[in-house]
Amino acid sequence: MTVWLRPPRRVALLSVHTSPLEQPGTGDAGGMNVYIAQTATRMAERGIAVEVFTRATSSDLPPVAELAPGVLVRHVPAGPFEPLDRTELPAQLCAFTAVVLQTEANNEAGFYDLVHSHYWLSGQVGWLARDRWGVPLVHTAHTLARVKNAALADGDTPEPRSREIGEQQVVDQADQLVANTDMEANDLLHRYDADPAKVCTVSPGVDLARFQPGSRTDARARLGVPASATVFAFVGRIQPLKGPDVLLRAAAEVLRRGDVNRSDLVVLVVGGPSGTGLEQPRALQELAAHLGISDVVRFLPPQAGPELAQVYLAADVVTVPSHNESFGLVALEAQACGTPVVATDVGGLRVAVRDGVTGLLVPGHSADMWADALTRLNSPELRAVLGAGAVSHARAFSWDRTTDELVGAYMRAGVAFREVSEQAEVAS
Ligand code: UDP
Repeated sequence: MTVWLRPPRRVALLSVHTSPLEQPGTGDAGGMNVYIAQTATRMAERGIAVEVFTRATSSDLPPVAELAPGVLVRHVPAGPFEPLDRTELPAQLCAFTAVVLQTEANNEAGFYDLVHSHYWLSGQVGWLARDRWGVPLVHTAHTLARVKNAALADGDTPEPRSREIGEQQVVDQADQLVANTDMEANDLLHRYDADPAKVCTVSPGVDLARFQPGSRTDARARLGVPASATVFAFVGRIQPLKGPDVLLRAAAEVLRRGDVNRSDLVVLVVGGPSGTGLEQPRALQELAAHLGISDVVRFLPPQAGPELAQVYLAADVVTVPSHNESFGLVALEAQACGTPVVATDVGGLRVAVRDGVTGLLVPGHSADMWADALTRLNSPELRAVLGAGAVSHARAFSWDRTTDELVGAYMRAGVAFREVSEQAEVAS
């Protein structure tokens, strides 16, 4: 057996449907964008040149942009220069792949010695690139259709069968599959019949320099939130899957019970419409009006990292009421700031939040249960204990660790790829 003892020198990183240069928190830009930007930057710091391929959504985008030293983003023309719904993207994969292959053929900087695809659409491109270039394919799914379809929110449409089929093909083809949690690894094994030798778990990280404890008073002053208010926050892409409606219903219930005075409550909702949420971009505002709480809810557009940290610091509690979550970076970021998190007891949130230690996990989405959890956290003493637990829990995660473990996965992929190639040679 030939063992690949060194990390790759140049990696092609595929992110067809969303660019790491985009502001996360709206549309298709979310945790995956953060993951790619953070790990690619650190790969480059470790001497691995990274080129990210993403679809060009505007003719104003330069063909190539620098994300960080050693990390290029290549804007691939594939289809019209405009954002496309994810369901339209499979028809553009051939055009996308053609440009990726041409780029490599004309690239003076040399060959890629590994391809890492993010999300199944990129996996389809990576599969062909791997075969053409004769290099290993590492794949990170980020979400899985079969898992998502098993936990749909009201108003969400199921992922199509074509995605399940495409995803299965990528699982079968990849030399290494990187899961965010052991649960996701289990899903790959049992829902997609993945080869256990190819599956590994690599925890996502958190930017501990950006998200750290700080002054709540200052954060509230910056956001114009009264120092004495009770503040619940939701941060993320606004769509049924993320359950922001759960927070609004729970806040209305907290007020109905008189657990918090109306004049003391502020609910911050940060992010922009995404996915099926784009079909009714004002649905949450309408729900707030329907619940009679428009006066306590403040909607903020997607915030960049430093401003987002102020939101986490200003909040008494950050809520993550998702119906399904592969991991939940928002939960980790809030905890790194010392803010306890109330999250649904589902998927990766069970790893991101430690029930009773760093926050609370709620089994389901009923307004009653969520109001109970929020009211429990009305106690400053409990918030202080959970907040301290949250900081130490979050500090166990870092993008440096994620990157080191990814490099390990790359090296294992090299071994697996060689083995398969050698077997093929012997067989011929
Ligand atoms: N985010 C942001 N600004 C916002 C809202 C979200 O930068 O206004 C970022 C947030 O910091 C987090 C990511 O978007 O890193 C969301 O990741 P998460 O895993 O919570 O959810 P996903 O978007 O992957 O479903």
